[in-house]
Amino acid sequence: MSREQERVSKRVQELKPSGIRKFFELIIGRDDVISLGVGEPDFAVPWRIREEIIYALEKGITSYTSNFGLKELREAIAEYYRKFGVECSAESVLITTGVSEGVDIALRAILNEGEAVLVPEPCYVSYAPLSSLAGGEVVAIPTTPDFKLSYELIDEYAKETKPKAIVINYPNNPTGVSYSKKELEEIADAAIEHDMIVISDEIYAELSYTFKHISIASLNGMEERAIILNGFSKAFAMTGLRIGYAIAPADILEGMLKIHQYCMLCAPVTAQIGALEALRNGEDELEEMRAEYIRRRNFFVKRVGKVLDVKMPDGAFYAFPSIESTGLSSEEFAERLLFEKNVAVVPGNAFGECGEGYIRCAYAVSMEKLREAVDRIVEFVEEL
Ligand code: PLP
Repeated sequence: MSREQERVSKRVQELKPSGIRKFFELIIGRDDVISLGVGEPDFAVPWRIREEIIYALEKGITSYTSNFGLKELREAIAEYYRKFGVECSAESVLITTGVSEGVDIALRAILNEGEAVLVPEPCYVSYAPLSSLAGGEVVAIPTTPDFKLSYELIDEYAKETKPKAIVINYPNNPTGVSYSKKELEEIADAAIEHDMIVISDEIYAELSYTFKHISIASLNGMEERAIILNGFSKAFAMTGLRIGYAIAPADILEGMLKIHQYCMLCAPVTAQIGALEALRNGEDELEEMRAEYIRRRNFFVKRVGKVLDVKMPDGAFYAFPSIESTGLSSEEFAERLLFEKNVAVVPGNAFGECGEGYIRCAYAVSMEKLREAVDRIVEFVEEL
């Protein structure tokens, strides 16, 4: 055994490197590349939010907040979530350091060693590794070819594995798929039938185009078993400010707080003040960004749809075309597209095994860059 292996815990040694990170090492410092790889809004944080943060700094507001987060922000979030059908009070809200921390502490708060967690794939890259780090056994549910969960699909996997929880994400990264109320009711029925906790990552709730976003926590019987995770990174283009939140039943929220108080203490105070401004006055900027994403989505699907099979995304800012017709693997496709046409996309298998045969393209770049990238993708496929 090498020294490194001895010093690093078995759990960490066993983690697979992120497929996204591996790919991004290749484009660092390459200004000639148009990247549709990063899942990050290309907009600056709206000016009014930046101003509030600057004022807070000028006033010297730089201290810790309560472990739960600022009371006004928690109140504003409880009020805001009515928009997605959830009635809750500020006491049910915990401010986290991004949704990433929320995923981590939700899993750690509920999982005992060896308990199963259902992870529908393709999915955001952190769910499986953070479940494993929390001691859980990941049970992947492949959702290809329509990328949708149904009662039957969940039932099939839950019957055998008796899972403690399921992690869902809609609108979805990387597929862009979302759910109608009726489809969510099926997922809720399966969760109730198998007595599962539902961790619902709703970070793209505001970027819902096909359906009006409804939180699964608002459905009958879900209040006591749903952990909502959401944040400000995507809707308000606040990725680097690191503000997320969890809305959860009291016992689970208390468990999450116990971990949060030791590992984070609190989320950054100035960013919490910015988040409050986003909820109070950020609607106009949000609308503008949403309209622009819809424009880009429509353009992407129309143009790329001529050479690859691509579904119209319901939300978020990702498209997930199938590249099966090209005969290349996801990684071969992504590597050759990068080296031959200077366009970066992420191989679909970075989001789970069943993502093989697809690529993820983020349309969070300017229309000008998107046009150029799409032309190059079309040219690349036609030349194959
Ligand atoms: N959840 C999903 C589905 C995401 O796509 C991302 C970021 O890409 C995150 C969580 C991480 O969000 P945050 O910046 O709030 O940590």
